[in-house]
Amino acid sequence: METDYFSARQDPSYWYDQADFTTVKGWLGSEIVCPACGRSHKISTRLMEERSKMTDHISEYLPQLGLGGSCVVVMDENTKRAAGDRLMAGLADYAPRAVVFTRDDLHADEEALGSLMIALGEKPDFLVACGSGTITDITRYNSYMTGIPFISYATAASVDGFASGTTPLLVQGFKTTCPGTAPLGIFYDAAVLAAAPDSMTAAGFGDVLAKIIALIDWRLAFAAEDEPYCPLIAAIVDRAVEACLELADDLAVIKPDNKVKKLSDIHNSKEKEAKLKRDQEAALLARGQACVKLMDTLSLTGIAMQMMGTSRPASGSDHHISHLLEMNDIRRHKKGSLHGDKVGIGTLIGMKMYLRLFEQGELPQQRPHMAADLWEKEVRRVYGPLADQAIAKNTPYPPSGKEWEYQRKQIAKAMDLYGYKYIDRFKTLLPTARDKIIAMGGPVRPDQLGYSRQETYDAIAFGKEVRPKFTTLRLAERFGWLYDLAEEIANGLPEGKIY
Ligand SMILES: [Zn+2]
Ligand SMILES: [Zn+2]
Repeated sequence: METDYFSARQDPSYWYDQADFTTVKGWLGSEIVCPACGRSHKISTRLMEERSKMTDHISEYLPQLGLGGSCVVVMDENTKRAAGDRLMAGLADYAPRAVVFTRDDLHADEEALGSLMIALGEKPDFLVACGSGTITDITRYNSYMTGIPFISYATAASVDGFASGTTPLLVQGFKTTCPGTAPLGIFYDAAVLAAAPDSMTAAGFGDVLAKIIALIDWRLAFAAEDEPYCPLIAAIVDRAVEACLELADDLAVIKPDNKVKKLSDIHNSKEKEAKLKRDQEAALLARGQACVKLMDTLSLTGIAMQMMGTSRPASGSDHHISHLLEMNDIRRHKKGSLHGDKVGIGTLIGMKMYLRLFEQGELPQQRPHMAADLWEKEVRRVYGPLADQAIAKNTPYPPSGKEWEYQRKQIAKAMDLYGYKYIDRFKTLLPTARDKIIAMGGPVRPDQLGYSRQETYDAIAFGKEVRPKFTTLRLAERFGWLYDLAEEIANGLPEGKIY
């Protein structure tokens, strides 16, 4: 039977009414036979709960997750202060032992994974990750290797990996997707999320935004390369992005002066002070609620990854650009920036690339490919000691001949059916997304994170070698446009000319 690539049932919007937050929450802890793709999607996470003073109440949820005995709580010095100490007190009945990472620039790498493994000592009955992305990933992989279940207490809405079932790890410096376990429960508290640094919340927003690119990359990969795809999962992610875009105003950095309008009209200073306090409290409350919704959204996209069993629903060229920047930072012992910051920038670049590729309303004119020997030379220059790994994962030439002819036809059909419409939105979405990130105090250009023009070019031109997956970057490469676009964008970005 021929694969159905293009019917209405493959459109995420066809499944919207089954892809809302409440419906998906109802699937937690179960396995569903998917009405959209026919696969069976398993969700191991059984609970997602927000509550005031969650640290004091978390132990009430453990029996229903089947957890008892003793636990190890994994944290770093910041998350210890934010919630870890209170969490230890709240888990007093479970003989908690704290493992606190004190490394300055913590990554989910061999050193961190090994040191947690050793610190586990007498096998505890369950693990608690108290933190955000990195702490959760370190705990997740240890949980996978030891078979000890874990729960996640989120201290910041900064990343979508909480609920994921796969683990991004640095393996000999190369960002690699490894297996992992999903947490049995994810717990959070509005006040704790709202108190996290503004930059972390902005990064979480950037990580959700990335799905705009991840989704179109995924759907085109399905059409061009027959990559496994599920329109229901795409719909969950799509709706999560829409919800998140609406939150942006409430997530913006709180500047008390801006929130108190016409203060000069109030002459009584006591009254003025009281109004200031009221306004600040209201703004904090709104921000707390917005942070919870952002966390819901991030968890939901994590659940989408768990359902698919891969990171594909949530990660496209946006993430590959970010991964290469991160790998090169670590190699050069440069202190890194937040995952969501780089991913948010990768998303803006991804939108720009799609707009440029298809600006004539037709497929781009075919241009020549980079010669194989030059490609290898460039990969060696960009990846340095990691180049052998990058070269082993990739081929020097994109598909050609009949294979490319077929893919080109599939891409043309996909573009006519939904692609042009989707990308047309970027004309307004790109400046809107940029401005929303700015309002949250996040970066929108690589140079704001200290990356040079050359590093920006390298990340766009050779981010694709991080994974042999079809994304915006591969699409541009196949039409022979990638290196020109990388140059154009890298040249224009520092002057703010590109978007
Ligand atoms: Zn499905
Ligand atoms: Zn991410």
